[in-house]
Amino acid sequence: MNTDVELPPTHGSSGAPSGAPSGVRGDRASPSRGETAPLIEVFASIQGEGLYVGEPQVFVRLAGCPLRCRYCDTPHSWAIHAEARVPGATAEASPQRVPAWHDVKALLERVRAAESGARRTVSLTGGEPLLWPRFAAELARALAPRRVHLETAGAHPQALETLLAHVAHVSLDLKLAADLQAPVEGVDLPEREPEPRDAAGWRAVRRHVLPLLVDRDACAKLVVTEHTDVAEALVALDDLRELAPRVPVFLQPATPRPRAAAPEPARVDALVQGALERGLSVRSLPQIHPLLGLP
Ligand code: SF4
Repeated sequence: MNTDVELPPTHGSSGAPSGAPSGVRGDRASPSRGETAPLIEVFASIQGEGLYVGEPQVFVRLAGCPLRCRYCDTPHSWAIHAEARVPGATAEASPQRVPAWHDVKALLERVRAAESGARRTVSLTGGEPLLWPRFAAELARALAPRRVHLETAGAHPQALETLLAHVAHVSLDLKLAADLQAPVEGVDLPEREPEPRDAAGWRAVRRHVLPLLVDRDACAKLVVTEHTDVAEALVALDDLRELAPRVPVFLQPATPRPRAAAPEPARVDALVQGALERGLSVRSLPQIHPLLGLP
């Protein structure tokens, strides 16, 4: 029986399909009972991207993403599945499958089980964690004073505002409309904001989000593929220069996938030059965890 729940094409209707787990329609637990969110996996590895590349971290991957980036390396995170993959009860035990929906207390146990030795920074990733802002904020508060990092596409500015005070670092993707298919409309989550659908929409949310990152521990990341629209990318760098010029930008040549080949060097170099001309702090860095054979 397939019990996974794809984000369905029902935006504006009653939301989740019949049989959806509790919470998909917005009938999550009340604040007094604590927030819940669906999990894909929890695991320990090293950070493979961005400003904290190489840092040992625990990754909490929340389920659900309505975006459809052509270079996505986690398409299994798009849907809300019935089960999640979490560490075994001991360091020696194999990972186990458990029901996907977690409250904060249960998720804290998963994080602790993923660590052997000293506590690690927790990277909150997805999917899109900003689909679950109140849960994410409650989790970050529970993990304090441990550092919590957020990895986000930045398509949901109000959700980011809800969460921002609770995270130590934000890694913001600079999304380009040319690299995305139309978002999947659907799940009627209470705080869900409509995702951008075109370059103008992405620019609008970017210009909402970037000022939130001024004087914060943050970085911007731009995935570069063979199809990356350099002109649209330079507009994103214009926005970064204008609105958050001290936030460093990481140009990330795509790890080759069937629908997103790596870029030719000249395309990366054009963007490096564009960033330098705008006075930005820029680095070109591929994902390192695939190179090391790590998850
Ligand atoms: S936002 Fe992230 S998880 Fe969603 S499709 Fe894009 S790369 Fe994949």
